[in-house]
Amino acid sequence: MAEVLVLAEHTHGGEVKKVTVELLTAARRLGEPSVVWAGPGAEAGRERLAEFGAARVYVADSADFSDYVVAPVAGLLAQLVGKKAPAAVLVAGTAEGKEIAGRLAVKTGSGVLTDAVDVTAADDGAPLAEHANFGGAITAHARATAGTPIIAVRPNAIAAAPAAADAEIVPVEFAASDAAKAARITERVIAEKGERPDLTEAQIVVSGGRGTGSADGFKIIEEFADSLGAAVGASRAVTDAGWYPHQFQVGQTGKTVSPQLYMAVGISGAIQHRAGMQTSKTIIAINKDPEAPIFEIADYAIVGDLFEVVPPLIEEVGKRK
Ligand SMILES: Cc1cc2nc3c(=O)[nH]c(=O)nc-3n(C[C@H](O)[C@H](O)[C@H](O)COP(=O)(O)OP(=O)(O)OC[C@H]3O[C@@H](n4cnc5c(N)ncnc54)[C@H](O)[C@@H]3O)c2cc1C
Repeated sequence: MAEVLVLAEHTHGGEVKKVTVELLTAARRLGEPSVVWAGPGAEAGRERLAEFGAARVYVADSADFSDYVVAPVAGLLAQLVGKKAPAAVLVAGTAEGKEIAGRLAVKTGSGVLTDAVDVTAADDGAPLAEHANFGGAITAHARATAGTPIIAVRPNAIAAAPAAADAEIVPVEFAASDAAKAARITERVIAEKGERPDLTEAQIVVSGGRGTGSADGFKIIEEFADSLGAAVGASRAVTDAGWYPHQFQVGQTGKTVSPQLYMAVGISGAIQHRAGMQTSKTIIAINKDPEAPIFEIADYAIVGDLFEVVPPLIEEVGKRK
């Protein structure tokens, strides 16, 4: 069976990011997945990789990956593409992943497909990337016509499904070239993170829109999220108004989320917002306008003033803890 390389996104401690198991799920449709692990922590992450179908894990545990920016990772992937001739390389469609994909495509003379929302095999077995364009209004399928297809897949677009495999650890010798060491990391600052789960990894997301009325009004969204142990999201109307930071914006020009439960509170449901949340498992919308477009995709609709609907919900959730 053809080998498919999957670049692992992980912490140095070996925590495997959710997008990696999504990539493994997609890779299994194309062939036998092999994970590429750059840096330390592979042993700690191995069990999770095995659970989602990694046949083997190529591990290059070199300080080059932590001391320099993305170029060494692209170098490692190029080395493995040369040696293994895989059917495809899948990376996360994050800022880093997309830069790695571009560099790898140049190094290997390959076609690169970014922002894929799904990956399947065409009738002839070739990897096919699905793209949601214009905020999801148009779906396009694309295939690479040169070299090894390199596909950057949007986090949270594919539902991860387990399938046990060995995840055999295979050490790889790697030394970054001088050119790859041109930009050095001089300092790392850990982003301050509160108690709330990460927006793109959370099981529950509570998002607020312009209906909250102000930065002060938006606090009810945080309170609601905290009662559920959820992450907070926001529409662009909210982030543009400065009521909540931009990093929490959900949508076409924000984050893509796909939680078990998405609550849209005072959000109209513009196509650009839906592009970032429509794959959520269950969607509950609270809006005072019964004609709001968000209700077209909601599983449960609550028509009412959010300032009247949300407080009793918070109270009820509190009683059940
Ligand atoms: C290129 C481009 C990219 C974009 N990218 C994004 C993106 O990534 N994410 C995004 O969100 N938007 C994005 N937008 C903006 C998008 O088109 C909408 O303008 C935006 O999503 C609207 O946000 P909203 O639903 O909060 O506000 P509105 O559309 O103003 O809706 C507010 C809703 O709240 C309801 N409401 C008001 N008061 C209450 C109340 N008291 N109780 C209950 N309901 C109430 C109203 O009925 C209404 O439905 C983008 C636009 C463009 C052109």
